[in-house]
Amino acid sequence: MQEPRSAGAMDTEFPYALRTMCYIEVASDGSVRWGSGAGTYKRALAGETRLYAVWPGEWSSHLFVIDDLDQYARAFGIVHDETRTGLADHQHQARWAVHPTEDKPNGAYITINVQLDCGCKIRDLKTFATQMRQQQGWNIATSGGWGGGGETYYMRARRKSLTT
Ligand SMILES: [Zn+2]
Repeated sequence: MQEPRSAGAMDTEFPYALRTMCYIEVASDGSVRWGSGAGTYKRALAGETRLYAVWPGEWSSHLFVIDDLDQYARAFGIVHDETRTGLADHQHQARWAVHPTEDKPNGAYITINVQLDCGCKIRDLKTFATQMRQQQGWNIATSGGWGGGGETYYMRARRKSLTT
């Protein structure tokens, strides 16, 4: 038998958000649950549970102890991570315009160009969408195509939610 390896020792190299990762929660009374979701981080942080993960490999799988809960929370967006998302935790200076290729500019959802004047980069659209919904009420479609780089990005958004 072997001891679980340390996920924290791998720092950002540990693929916390890997879809096939199996998280196991061991409560102080010995009960075991698996999966992840709301509450997992809080319970582990409070010391009510210990969190493990099985990282499946092609030939063998390995058991890790999730001993860096901050990394875990950053990976799942529970704690804001500027490096991972490219986005500062501030009021973005964002401008939008209808994308030149949009042929239905009066549709419910339109493709827009977003220009960021605040120096942020969008590496994670979900985080940007959440921030813009809170800050400006923009309703950005996180399931639609998006891209870009530098200061200019394109994405889909509900037209009526866009403010100037
Ligand atoms: Zn910004």
